[in-house]
Amino acid sequence: MPLHELFEEANRQLVICNACRYCEGYCPVWPALERRRHLTPGDVAHLANLCHDCNDCLTACMYSAPHEFELNPPQIFSKLRTDTYDRYVWPRVGQVRSTRALVGTALSLAVAVLLLAFRLALHPHAPKGSPYGFIPHDALIAVALVPVVWGLIIMTIASLHYWRDIGGSWSELAHPVTWMNALSDGARLKHMSGGGPGCDYPGDSPNNLRKYFHLTLVAGFGLCFASTTVAAIEEEFLNRIPPYPIISAPVLLGLFGGAGMLVGCLGLLRLQQRRNLEATTPRMSAADRVLVWTLIALAGTGVLTTVLRSTSAYAAILLIHLATVVTCFAIAPYTKFAHFVYRSMSIYKDRLEAAPRN
Ligand code: SF4
Ligand code: SF4
Repeated sequence: MPLHELFEEANRQLVICNACRYCEGYCPVWPALERRRHLTPGDVAHLANLCHDCNDCLTACMYSAPHEFELNPPQIFSKLRTDTYDRYVWPRVGQVRSTRALVGTALSLAVAVLLLAFRLALHPHAPKGSPYGFIPHDALIAVALVPVVWGLIIMTIASLHYWRDIGGSWSELAHPVTWMNALSDGARLKHMSGGGPGCDYPGDSPNNLRKYFHLTLVAGFGLCFASTTVAAIEEEFLNRIPPYPIISAPVLLGLFGGAGMLVGCLGLLRLQQRRNLEATTPRMSAADRVLVWTLIALAGTGVLTTVLRSTSAYAAILLIHLATVVTCFAIAPYTKFAHFVYRSMSIYKDRLEAAPRN
């Protein structure tokens, strides 16, 4: 659907909602809508990214199909969110994100081949358990840093453009306490609760399964990040080089983190398979699946790298894991990984707007 038609349809539905206001207790989208008399394209993008896709408003709505108004806020918000993921990234390779994801995957495979070449050419009889046995330290850092820096630059620029378009000013970005509160809201999924009893997801009765699986995934990711950070500190400042013993902070954090990510991803995948497809779009469903399967690959190969570290399969699985890490960072700005950034900006803006009232 062209952008102007998308905006007109969102505007049509939200004008009716603003008169109805039945859903105002479900999430911050509805109070944010009530603060606006006339909607701009930036407003609807902001509301769409504030939506946590809980389905409660669709379940409750007396104006959804077969009513002639045919309201479906979660679906129109899904369309607007995928438009956001497209609009702010660079380079914009047409409107086909799968092309960009393909480019990222191809680049990552090229990196994997490069690493394999290092392994074969430089260290054919490398010891097991340590990546530096067959990948030079500086080469490993460079391979990991390039996509990380790329992703950070692209997402920083995209988020600033998004902030400008949803009506934020530069001076409003400098409120550290509001940032902490907004990030806390996002990390705790405060707004994924349907106003208290839980989301109507995947069916039409309230529950907190999606929230718990999502939190497990985020906690697992956090532990994996902590594992990498602790390993870097041990290596750079304490001169302790891998492989680390099984009972050590980097290994245990990595194993528990990977397990948490797998449990969270598999749970979310199961819920996605059973969800009400009327409340979303095929494109958003595909984006959800790509995100979850990518994270499963990331966590699964990470866990296997530790489990197989004393076997002859170690080099191969480490290469696959590194290629997966590089792929994730390379495609992050162009996939649903980016939802974290836009949603955080919208939660922050909502906190700024709601602060005087609170
Ligand atoms: S989604 Fe339906 S019930 Fe909820 S505010 Fe809009 S019109 Fe009212
Ligand atoms: S789907 Fe849930 S989070 Fe999204 S607007 Fe409706 S009630 Fe709010």
